[in-house]
Order: sequence, then C-alpha cells, then structure tokens
Amino acid sequence: MAIKLKIAIALTIILALMTAFVGCGRPPAEVSKVPGVVVNVIDVGQGDAILIRTSSQTTLIDTGDVPAREKLISYISGLGISVIDTLIITHPHSDHIGGASAVLSSFKVERAYDSGQTTTSHLYRKYLAQIQESNIPFRALAAGEQLDIGGGAVLKIFAPSQPLISGTDSDLNNNSVVAKLVYGNFSMLLPGDSEQEAEERIVSQYAGDLHSLVLKSGHHGSHTSSKLPFLQAVNPEAVVISVGANNEYHHPHPSTLKRYNSLGINIYRTDTDGTVTITSDGKTYNITKER
Ligand SMILES: [Zn+2]
Repeated sequence: MAIKLKIAIALTIILALMTAFVGCGRPPAEVSKVPGVVVNVIDVGQGDAILIRTSSQTTLIDTGDVPAREKLISYISGLGISVIDTLIITHPHSDHIGGASAVLSSFKVERAYDSGQTTTSHLYRKYLAQIQESNIPFRALAAGEQLDIGGGAVLKIFAPSQPLISGTDSDLNNNSVVAKLVYGNFSMLLPGDSEQEAEERIVSQYAGDLHSLVLKSGHHGSHTSSKLPFLQAVNPEAVVISVGANNEYHHPHPSTLKRYNSLGINIYRTDTDGTVTITSDGKTYNITKER
C-alpha cells in the first residue's frame, strides 16, 4: 500500500474519531420536530393552550390556567420537547397566563411576546420577572407584523392595533393578540379572547386576509364573540372551542353554537373531545380528537 494511501486512511480515521468525540458534547437533537405543521389545541380545562410545531420550531400560544399547569407541562414534555422557540401570551387573564411560570421554569424559551397589556396580578408579575431574570427577548406584538415560526410557516398578526380598544366590558380580551397561522394552503385563525369590538376592528382592517380553514373559537365560544360578520369573513370549515367541562361561565353559549351550525362549520371542543390535533402538509389538513 502506498504511503500516501496509508496516511489518507489514518487521517480519515482520526477525523472520524474527532467528529464522534465532538458529537458527544452536543445536546441531543429535539425529537419533537414534525413534517408540515401540527397544531394541538390542548385540553387544559377552562382556558387556552395551543401548541404549534413545524419542521424546525415549536410555538406555544397561551398556557392555560393554574390548575392545569402540571398537565400542560407533562403534555408538552411527553412530545419530547425541551425548547419552546416562541411563547405568545394573548392577554394576561389567568386562563391564558396561568401556566406561564411553569412553562418558563420547565422549558428553554427562546423568545416571548404578548399583547403589551399589563396587570397587577401575581401571575403576571411572576411571568414578567422570570422573563427578565432569564434575559429572554421579549416585546409586545402589533397588528401588521409577521412572525417566522420555521418550516415555511408564519403567524400573521392582526391585533392588537393602536389605539388599543377601550371602554368595553373587557378591554384585556378585546386587545388580545390575534394571529393567523399560514402554512402553504393551510390556515388557522387564533383570536385569543377577542370579543365583538375586536372582531369588528379586525374585519374592517383585514377582511381580505381573514379567511381561514380552521378557527380557534374566540373567548371559549362566548356569546360576546363569533359574531356573524366575523364568521362570514373568516368562513372556516371547522372551529375548535377550548373550554372546560361545566365551567362557571357556561361557555360555549348556545347562540354561538347555533351560529356555527347555521354556517355548516364542524365543531370540535376540548371538554368533550379532549385535545384536538390539526395536522397539515400545506395542501390538505386533518383533525383528530383525543377521545
Ligand atoms: Zn379566556
């Protein structure tokens, strides 16, 4: 064997060993990554927690209420997820921010966004303190921007817009972050707890871009949301209501269910179906129920 060839083989072996050694020091790759897009409207009882996975990133929109936080953490961990690339809190009510502290403690959160609305609640202050202590990039979202959530999927932000809506029964709800997930031909509108006033503003500003195949029901199917002009603009094929069984607010309201039915919208709800999962390859989509 020529000396040059021997040297080449030896170098190849050394290089392979070095690569293997360096490889040992790397953190294990996330096993959660999925082809296309997978959206889990997680059954957290009365509240919202929506996990969006793409081929390269994980996004969590809202974190449920305090009593569901352990269930939320174990659900996400059970998918093999240790990093949440993007955390979005639509508004600081406890049924959306309640699990945020546990999420920030349990996962590496790369960046966080909210509606820019503040409260004096313990839950909000703790969430803010943890974000600051961990030096997580953090800011308010604004209508008109677009977030890249990896794998070719984006979140178009439709609200809040300035000046913030005021003088309503719940300004916190009405200034929720509203996002439209777009992946190829698939789309899903995520309006937080937007009520009629917010819906009217979004319809007036984004009517041409509101159409979505799937809608996450605004404000848990409340009668103050999912008004007809909004539903006609979104024109969804399916709606997912994130709601607790026998909740004290009596969500969802019969009049809202009636509107969905009259428009031929397929209804899914976490109190009866458990976690609802929407999967898309960017061409078609599929909805499955936990039970
Ligand atoms: Zn809510």
